Amino acid sequence: MLNKNEIKESISNILLLDKGVTIKTATDSELYYALSKSMMLLILEKWKNQKTDVKKVSYFSAEFLMGRAFSNNLINFGIYDEVKEILEELNLNINIIEDEEMDAGLGNGGLGRLAACFLDSGATLDIPLNGYGIRYEYGLFKQYFENGFQMETADDWLRNEDPWSIRRESEKVDVVFNDFTVEAIPYDMPIIGYNSNTINTLRLWSSKSKESFDFKEFNDQNYLDAQKNKIIAEDISRVLYPNDTKEEGKYLRIRQQYFFSSASLQDLVRKHKENHGSLDNFYEFNKIQLNDTHPAVSIPELIRILIDEENYTFEKALEIAKETFSYTNHTILAEALEMWPKEYFKNILPRIYEIIKLIDESLMEELKSKGLEKSKCSLYRIVHGGKIKMAWLSIYGSKYINGVARLHTNLLMSTELKHWYEIYPEKFQNKTNGITQRRWLLKSNPELSKLITELLGSDEWIKNLSKLKDLEKYVDDDSVIERFMNIKKEKKKQLADFIFKEEGIKIDEDSLFDVQIKRLHEYKRQLLNAFHILDLYYKIKENPNIQIEKRTFIFGAKAAPGYDRAKAIIKFINDIASLVNNDKDVNGKIKVVFVHNYRVTYGEYLFPAAELSEQISTAGKEASGTGNMKFMLNGAPTIGTYDGANIEIVEEAGEDNNFIFGAKVEELDEIMESYDPKEYYEKVEGLKKVVDTLIDGTFSDGGSGAFEELYDALLQGYDWHRADNYFILKDFESYREAQKKVDKAYKNKKEYAKKSWMNIANAGKFSSDRTIREYSKDIWEV
Ligand SMILES: *Cc1c(COP(=O)(O)O)cnc(C)c1O
Repeated sequence: MLNKNEIKESISNILLLDKGVTIKTATDSELYYALSKSMMLLILEKWKNQKTDVKKVSYFSAEFLMGRAFSNNLINFGIYDEVKEILEELNLNINIIEDEEMDAGLGNGGLGRLAACFLDSGATLDIPLNGYGIRYEYGLFKQYFENGFQMETADDWLRNEDPWSIRRESEKVDVVFNDFTVEAIPYDMPIIGYNSNTINTLRLWSSKSKESFDFKEFNDQNYLDAQKNKIIAEDISRVLYPNDTKEEGKYLRIRQQYFFSSASLQDLVRKHKENHGSLDNFYEFNKIQLNDTHPAVSIPELIRILIDEENYTFEKALEIAKETFSYTNHTILAEALEMWPKEYFKNILPRIYEIIKLIDESLMEELKSKGLEKSKCSLYRIVHGGKIKMAWLSIYGSKYINGVARLHTNLLMSTELKHWYEIYPEKFQNKTNGITQRRWLLKSNPELSKLITELLGSDEWIKNLSKLKDLEKYVDDDSVIERFMNIKKEKKKQLADFIFKEEGIKIDEDSLFDVQIKRLHEYKRQLLNAFHILDLYYKIKENPNIQIEKRTFIFGAKAAPGYDRAKAIIKFINDIASLVNNDKDVNGKIKVVFVHNYRVTYGEYLFPAAELSEQISTAGKEASGTGNMKFMLNGAPTIGTYDGANIEIVEEAGEDNNFIFGAKVEELDEIMESYDPKEYYEKVEGLKKVVDTLIDGTFSDGGSGAFEELYDALLQGYDWHRADNYFILKDFESYREAQKKVDKAYKNKKEYAKKSWMNIANAGKFSSDRTIREYSKDIWEV
């Protein structure tokens, strides 16, 4: 039980001390700050009493896409309702206060959100799992549209201060580059388990210059020069993934990677020595998971610390590293496998470069001793062709490597990493991704959560999602299905209100909400969705009496600022939206909305309201997907390809309850060489018409040539990729058929709701609790 008066007093004190205002005169933003800080005071007691001398896991990740902390923390700490009451007594509305928090958007998409879900699961399962990363001053850019074009502005998430972090000056460390040294200052965020005893820590490092500024330059009245070194040092934690098309940008990324790897390892080594004296048993108490290869430089860095600072031999140091690290691979897209020019490492991290060379030599020795022919060894070289291959370094330096869905792991073993699998089969594992039901159901869909708890007679599902299976028996209970339908209706209304507030667009709450939200990438095929909408638009124009269910097509996606083709696709979809939404002939039948600035908080409105989950990537390209799981858990059937975790989702929920279409990996492999998209363009009814809108003047790209470039990419290709690299034209017909099935199924609302219900009941496997249990058992042994 909270002491209401104590909390009110603590809020008043913080307001007075930090902001100079009272509860009566404070703005909502100031109230959010003071309330959050006073919650931190409550949490602190339990947080600082966590055991430190136990075996623990450190999750190294360049990204943590946390979203908002406020409600999630209150719910997990078990004080949400009480705090809400206290606020009511003060005449304050908790939802308005919550809305003052900016998302911690320190990630791009799935990879960063996975890290956030894992931390939630770790704390909930009482596993000592702590995150380590960078405290970017600016997170992923904020997106808005101008004339349908994506525009970007800085995400200034720290402007109103971040009450959920504690700066721990006393635990700062130096990170040494060849040309300068910076300080890494840790900021700790509590990771509160749901109804558990554990509060773990997300430690994010901020870079700070060793000197404040150059007094001499200032005195000479060179004011900018006086700040120069300070700016260069502090740029390291300035932004998430700075543009790296130029050399300077590449250097900055390497600095970021080394910065947080080195700081985190120094931290772990220091703490281990405090508890155990020697580092001989470091790996028995420390497991480190590398979230993709961004922190791969941790491997040579740990070896450097062991050799140069702790007097270990290289052989012993390598052995310790190999027992400490494991590596998660997130993609088989060749262009996403990280490689850095070796000169860059030589220049700013010469000692690390030397150690990478030693690791490479050791690998070559090992391959020789395993009897591998010399001619084959070059396939494995970590330093090769003037580049350092971060994935190779990660595989050799790790105990285990895992893919993130069954199909993805199988593809790694049979294609991209086949040669590694042949030598080290025992290193390979699959860990199908998951999501936390605390954020993606309990918090974002309290209405459905309540129904589930009532039907199951307990809220055990919040910590054990497989309990949802018992919901299956209600599929033929009309009263339950009706209640579910009413909840979906309510969530659709909430989303419609939010979209009206954010976009100024009214959507029909009785239409089917068809949603595609994820990063904009060619392989995710938003363009396929767009072509289908255009085709439908023309069909309605031709036949105004067409009998189709009303639909609202909703998109949300950010394109990487330097990815021109992805930006062209956003512009194209926005143009389709204007065409469709401004045509009286189709109004009341279809509508298209591209919401701006898709992020975790927008997702919390979108997933619960969706009635169709678009998961239409080219087979073999989406490693897992996790958005697909959030939709499933909230009862949206999937229209999707045999890709990533879609396969496992359909396996659990049944093909009949989803809409699967398109070529499988094997088929694409077979036709790859001879594929000619023109055949489809000419032959598939209606396809030419929609593809030609890119060049026939239907839309305007403002003279940029971007639409014509897209058109050429589809039909003619470039010297660096074949025509229609992602098989959009090939899968169009099959997709349209699947969409017709959706339309037909939706005509019977109750039958459609039953499909949704079966998805919810079978979502248990996709809890990140299950994933984290598997990592704990098979990889970390905690
Ligand atoms: C879940 C999530 C993603 C990942 O979506 P996919 O469809 O799996 O690519 C990306 N961004 C945000 C904000 C998310 O919440």
